[in-house]
Amino acid sequence: MPPVFESRVVKAAALVGSGFASFARSRRVGEATILTFHGLCENSGDPGILDWSLHLPVEVFRSVCSLLAADYRVISLADLIEAQSKNQTLPDNSVVITFDDGYASNHELAYPILKRFDLHATVFVTTGFLDGEDPLWFQRVDLALGRTRKELLDWPVNGKVVRLYLGTRELRQQSLVALMPEFKALRASELRQEVERLELALEVAPPSFRELPAPMRPLTWDMACDMTFSGHVDIGGHTHSHPILSRCDSAEMRFEIATCRNRIFAEIGDLPSAFAYPNGKETDYNREALLLVREAGFKAACTMINGRVDEGTSLFQLPRYGSPESVWEAEATVSGAYETLKEWRHSCLKAMSML
Ligand SMILES: [Zn+2]
Repeated sequence: MPPVFESRVVKAAALVGSGFASFARSRRVGEATILTFHGLCENSGDPGILDWSLHLPVEVFRSVCSLLAADYRVISLADLIEAQSKNQTLPDNSVVITFDDGYASNHELAYPILKRFDLHATVFVTTGFLDGEDPLWFQRVDLALGRTRKELLDWPVNGKVVRLYLGTRELRQQSLVALMPEFKALRASELRQEVERLELALEVAPPSFRELPAPMRPLTWDMACDMTFSGHVDIGGHTHSHPILSRCDSAEMRFEIATCRNRIFAEIGDLPSAFAYPNGKETDYNREALLLVREAGFKAACTMINGRVDEGTSLFQLPRYGSPESVWEAEATVSGAYETLKEWRHSCLKAMSML
């Protein structure tokens, strides 16, 4: 178990086991937590994928849903949007479940669990991925580093040279971690050709959809329709090709947002009401992106900035937490224990600075 993961689990288990999470849950009223998942998997660790952080083991998701169904109030994102727009108080201990990108495992593994516990979720889809245009760009980078026969590559990018060590699987994983921020910093117009340039340098062919390892495969539109007809899932927008919107020019941004909306409407028959900014941190979207999302008819947009939704939260910058990696982490998050701890720490530091 990696030390970082271990420390996260220990901290979360301590917050839950000590009763602090129950205490926080009873105090944090009128707030909602939005959780973000990506894909699920049955057997994590398949050597065909270097980065497993986007594919949560299905048994963890099942345990999280069991916890949420028993002790929390799972509401749809549409319910949250309506309550926020009418200035209504959010139900206590409310939680919204979301998935990003649009993986087939959302239908194959998550959907039966949502139905089993009668829970609702929003799946934010990258429409070009579902259309079969191209695997997601970060999947191509992962597979190129994982499949190359090269053991070393000096890769010039963003005015510097990143040395990629590729001799072992662990080194490939470390090289992927080093490389991803460089790709995320590129202009959207350069991104695709830089991915192609990397594949060429590593002597790896671009992956076809059929070659993708199972957890990386996209939803089909039939799967998406099936989930929406049941009433357990809404489909939201996540752009057409998953660029970071702040790296796009105005025309690219408009195309990504409008095409995504139009493709969802054409396939599902309803206009999507919510959008999720790819990558979603403060520097990954800007005011222009926010305005274009609103202009395209979306009623709300989710970020990946940690925080809880309360009466003052902007509908176009809804905070979300990343995927919990254990049921303890889920409880420490949705109970408000992490936020309470953070606020206490902040108050203590402030008080000490006044001494
Ligand atoms: Zn995404």
